[in-house]
Amino acid sequence: MSYDDTNIFAKILRGELPAHRVYEDEATVAFMDLMPQGPGHTLVLPKAPSRNLLDADPAIFGALFATVQKLARAVKVAFNADGVVVMQFNEPASGQTVYHLHVHVIPRFEGVPLKPHSGEMEKPEVLAANAEKIKAALARG
Ligand code: 5GP
Repeated sequence: MSYDDTNIFAKILRGELPAHRVYEDEATVAFMDLMPQGPGHTLVLPKAPSRNLLDADPAIFGALFATVQKLARAVKVAFNADGVVVMQFNEPASGQTVYHLHVHVIPRFEGVPLKPHSGEMEKPEVLAANAEKIKAALARG
Protein backbone atom coordinates (compact mmCIF):
# COMPACT_ATOMS: atom_id res chain seq x y z
CA MET A 1 0.00 0.00 0.00
CA SER A 2 1.24 3.49 -0.74
CA TYR A 3 0.96 6.69 1.33
CA ASP A 4 -2.37 8.51 1.03
CA ASP A 5 -2.01 12.21 1.88
CA THR A 6 -5.72 12.56 2.70
CA ASN A 7 -5.23 10.70 6.01
CA ILE A 8 -6.27 12.57 9.20
CA PHE A 9 -2.72 13.14 10.46
CA ALA A 10 -1.57 14.53 7.09
CA LYS A 11 -4.45 17.02 7.37
CA ILE A 12 -3.41 17.92 10.93
CA LEU A 13 0.22 18.37 9.79
CA ARG A 14 -0.95 20.69 6.99
CA GLY A 15 -3.09 22.65 9.48
CA GLU A 16 -6.34 21.65 7.75
CA LEU A 17 -7.67 19.93 10.89
CA PRO A 18 -7.20 21.06 14.51
CA ALA A 19 -5.19 19.23 17.14
CA HIS A 20 -3.89 20.02 20.61
CA ARG A 21 -0.24 20.41 19.63
CA VAL A 22 2.38 20.22 22.36
CA TYR A 23 5.66 20.22 20.41
CA GLU A 24 7.03 20.94 16.95
CA ASP A 25 10.48 21.09 15.40
CA GLU A 26 11.85 20.90 11.84
CA ALA A 27 11.22 17.18 11.45
CA THR A 28 8.54 16.19 14.01
CA VAL A 29 5.24 17.19 15.62
CA ALA A 30 3.51 15.96 18.80
CA PHE A 31 -0.16 16.37 19.72
CA MET A 32 -2.75 14.88 22.05
CA ASP A 33 -4.51 11.67 21.03
CA LEU A 34 -8.24 12.37 20.57
CA MET A 35 -9.25 9.02 22.10
CA PRO A 36 -6.62 8.65 24.81
CA GLN A 37 -5.86 5.30 26.41
CA GLY A 38 -4.95 7.25 29.55
CA PRO A 39 -4.42 10.89 30.64
CA GLY A 40 -1.59 12.50 28.69
CA HIS A 41 -1.67 10.05 25.75
CA THR A 42 0.41 11.85 23.11
CA LEU A 43 1.25 11.04 19.48
CA VAL A 44 4.65 11.83 17.94
CA LEU A 45 4.88 12.06 14.15
CA PRO A 46 7.63 12.68 11.63
CA LYS A 47 6.63 15.39 9.16
CA ALA A 48 8.00 13.25 6.32
CA PRO A 49 5.24 11.14 4.79
CA SER A 50 5.22 7.40 5.33
CA ARG A 51 2.39 4.98 5.99
CA ASN A 52 4.10 3.43 8.99
CA LEU A 53 7.47 2.04 10.13
CA LEU A 54 7.62 -0.42 7.25
CA ASP A 55 7.96 2.15 4.45
CA ALA A 56 9.66 4.94 6.42
CA ASP A 57 13.06 6.38 5.51
CA PRO A 58 15.36 5.37 8.40
CA ALA A 59 17.00 8.79 8.13
CA ILE A 60 14.03 10.21 10.12
CA PHE A 61 14.34 7.81 13.07
CA GLY A 62 16.95 9.85 14.94
CA ALA A 63 14.78 12.97 14.99
CA LEU A 64 11.61 10.96 15.60
CA PHE A 65 12.97 9.10 18.62
CA ALA A 66 14.64 12.20 20.02
CA THR A 67 11.14 13.72 20.13
CA VAL A 68 9.64 10.50 21.52
CA GLN A 69 12.19 10.68 24.36
CA LYS A 70 11.42 14.38 24.99
CA LEU A 71 7.71 13.61 25.20
CA ALA A 72 8.19 10.48 27.31
CA ARG A 73 10.16 12.51 29.85
CA ALA A 74 7.66 15.38 29.73
CA VAL A 75 4.51 13.26 30.20
CA LYS A 76 6.13 11.37 33.08
CA VAL A 77 6.78 14.65 34.87
CA ALA A 78 3.53 16.37 33.81
CA PHE A 79 1.31 13.54 35.13
CA ASN A 80 3.61 12.32 37.90
CA ALA A 81 3.48 8.91 36.20
CA ASP A 82 5.18 5.73 37.43
CA GLY A 83 6.23 4.80 33.89
CA VAL A 84 5.66 5.50 30.21
CA VAL A 85 4.68 3.11 27.44
CA VAL A 86 5.76 3.74 23.81
CA MET A 87 3.72 1.91 21.15
CA GLN A 88 3.62 1.89 17.36
CA PHE A 89 1.33 -0.12 15.02
CA ASN A 90 1.86 -1.23 11.42
CA GLU A 91 -1.07 -2.13 9.15
CA PRO A 92 -4.63 -3.03 10.18
CA ALA A 93 -3.79 -6.49 11.54
CA SER A 94 -1.59 -4.81 14.17
CA GLY A 95 -4.21 -2.25 15.20
CA GLN A 96 -3.13 0.67 13.00
CA THR A 97 -6.05 2.92 12.06
CA VAL A 98 -4.38 6.10 10.76
CA TYR A 99 -1.83 5.69 7.98
CA HIS A 100 0.83 8.30 8.68
CA LEU A 101 3.66 6.96 10.86
CA HIS A 102 3.13 7.86 14.53
CA VAL A 103 4.38 6.75 17.91
CA HIS A 104 2.08 6.58 20.96
CA VAL A 105 3.55 7.93 24.23
CA ILE A 106 1.34 7.09 27.22
CA PRO A 107 1.96 7.72 30.94
CA ARG A 108 1.39 4.61 33.07
CA PHE A 109 0.40 4.30 36.71
CA GLU A 110 0.92 1.26 38.95
CA GLY A 111 -2.20 -0.92 38.89
CA VAL A 112 -4.11 1.24 36.35
CA PRO A 113 -4.91 -0.55 33.07
CA LEU A 114 -4.85 1.26 29.73
CA LYS A 115 -8.25 2.12 28.22
CA PRO A 116 -9.10 0.50 24.85
CA HIS A 117 -7.24 1.62 21.71
CA SER A 118 -9.27 4.17 19.67
CA GLY A 119 -12.02 4.05 22.32
CA GLU A 120 -13.87 7.06 23.75
CA MET A 121 -13.31 10.61 22.54
CA GLU A 122 -11.94 12.92 25.30
CA LYS A 123 -13.50 16.34 26.01
CA PRO A 124 -11.64 19.18 24.24
CA GLU A 125 -11.17 21.08 27.53
CA VAL A 126 -9.48 18.03 29.11
CA LEU A 127 -7.18 17.61 26.10
CA ALA A 128 -6.38 21.33 26.20
CA ALA A 129 -5.57 21.21 29.94
CA ASN A 130 -3.40 18.11 29.50
CA ALA A 131 -1.59 19.73 26.55
CA GLU A 132 -0.79 22.74 28.77
CA LYS A 133 0.66 20.45 31.46
CA ILE A 134 2.92 18.76 28.88
CA LYS A 135 4.00 22.06 27.35
CA ALA A 136 4.90 23.34 30.83
CA ALA A 137 6.96 20.20 31.52
CA LEU A 138 8.72 20.57 28.15
CA ALA A 139 9.49 24.21 28.90
CA ARG A 140 11.01 23.25 32.25
CA GLY A 141 13.23 20.76 30.35
P1 5GP B 1 -3.18 3.82 15.36
O1 5GP B 1 -4.24 2.80 15.63
O2 5GP B 1 -3.19 4.19 13.90
O3 5GP B 1 -1.84 3.47 15.89
O4 5GP B 1 -3.59 5.07 16.22
C1 5GP B 1 -4.33 6.13 15.76
C2 5GP B 1 -4.57 6.98 16.99
O5 5GP B 1 -5.07 8.21 16.54
C3 5GP B 1 -5.59 6.40 17.96
O6 5GP B 1 -5.02 6.31 19.24
C4 5GP B 1 -6.76 7.39 17.90
O7 5GP B 1 -7.34 7.58 19.16
C5 5GP B 1 -6.11 8.65 17.38
N1 5GP B 1 -6.94 9.49 16.54
C6 5GP B 1 -7.84 9.11 15.61
N2 5GP B 1 -8.36 10.18 14.99
C7 5GP B 1 -7.76 11.26 15.53
C8 5GP B 1 -7.89 12.66 15.30
O8 5GP B 1 -8.65 13.14 14.45
N3 5GP B 1 -7.11 13.49 16.05
C9 5GP B 1 -6.25 13.01 17.00
N4 5GP B 1 -5.54 13.90 17.68
N5 5GP B 1 -6.12 11.70 17.25
C10 5GP B 1 -6.86 10.83 16.53
